[in-house]
Amino acid sequence: MNPSLRSAALALLTAPVFAAAPVPLSIGPAFYGDPPDETHPWGIHDRNRPQPPRVVAGTPSLPGQPGRPPADAIVLFDGSASALANWESDGKEGGPTKWIVRDGALECVPKSGYIRSKARFGDCQLHVEWAAPREVKGNSQGRGNSGIFLMGLVEVQVLDNHENPTYADGFANSVYGTNPPLANPLRPPGEFQQVDIIFRRPVYRDGRVVDPGYLTVFCNGVLVQDHTPLEGQGGHMRRTKPGPFPESGPLKLQDHGNPVRFRNIWYRPLPPRSSEGGTDGALTPAATTAKRRATAADLRSDAEQRQGTERLLRLAESLVYESEPAATKRVEELATTYTIGLKGLPSTELESRKGEILGVLRAFRYLIKHGKLAAGSAPQRELERIERAQAWEEKKK
Ligand code: MG
Repeated sequence: MNPSLRSAALALLTAPVFAAAPVPLSIGPAFYGDPPDETHPWGIHDRNRPQPPRVVAGTPSLPGQPGRPPADAIVLFDGSASALANWESDGKEGGPTKWIVRDGALECVPKSGYIRSKARFGDCQLHVEWAAPREVKGNSQGRGNSGIFLMGLVEVQVLDNHENPTYADGFANSVYGTNPPLANPLRPPGEFQQVDIIFRRPVYRDGRVVDPGYLTVFCNGVLVQDHTPLEGQGGHMRRTKPGPFPESGPLKLQDHGNPVRFRNIWYRPLPPRSSEGGTDGALTPAATTAKRRATAADLRSDAEQRQGTERLLRLAESLVYESEPAATKRVEELATTYTIGLKGLPSTELESRKGEILGVLRAFRYLIKHGKLAAGSAPQRELERIERAQAWEEKKK
């Protein structure tokens, strides 16, 4: 890897999550899998496709010991008394909450009101652990009730449903008032339940739904909401309708009159979906074209930093993403110069450069196969002549 690419790779590895690489990476073979198409800006096994950002994983929680969050998580409650400063009362004015920190847990003080995070966020991976009071009191919705409100709007129900039936759409891990959980994997009251949520807010454009928004929830490792579409924010008694959400909101925890305890609360913001301008996943033809054009421009500029065969191949690579007439002409010129340089070389010299020469021929064949270069050009014919003369042709299996 050349120094500029190495520094680009290092920059990518240390960059904030989801930052775009300034220069494409070069890992793996080029001219290999199927090329980009109308709705896929990357080829199959595309070496220029950005590497996933490195995240140092956390550790799992044990009954008496909360785990460590992943390194890039934004921690809202870590068990310390000072973490209470991440939260405020959900009253109009905010202000300090009356909830308390006891034995490493954030505990609801009944009748003190909901609390909300000072942090505002939208799409996220959210981790919350909660425990209903060990001493069982009440039944149905009156036992160990609290709630995890994404953006302060949609409630993933917190309820002690261990041997405690209630209406299904108000069950623990329901999207409250909308959709019951797929299962009841609750541990007995007093023990911490681990809830992992993937939340996507609704996306509207020009008053029309582009993406209804979804909730996926695991409780104690068991899937309880499977990409459940949102139907508005849901709620008590009234059926809500789908509609747009704000850009961001706080995480709220409910005071439903029970001293439910929480620990190990963290989230990771999620990258934008393709419907919001993200450049991965199912893209529109317009977004695909824009991404392919940008990649081709990056490759052309990277080619300018290189010399000789490297420059030729890098520029040829740009044609995979965008057929740009000036770049096509330049590839043909560089290839002509390249093959002229091979003319008259002794067979032993050609043999020592076998990998390089076949690499250029492979690029030509790939680009011709996928309609990016015209077949039968002088450089192609010369490279194929050398291939035959040196007996480099692959034996047919
Ligand atoms: Mg509730």
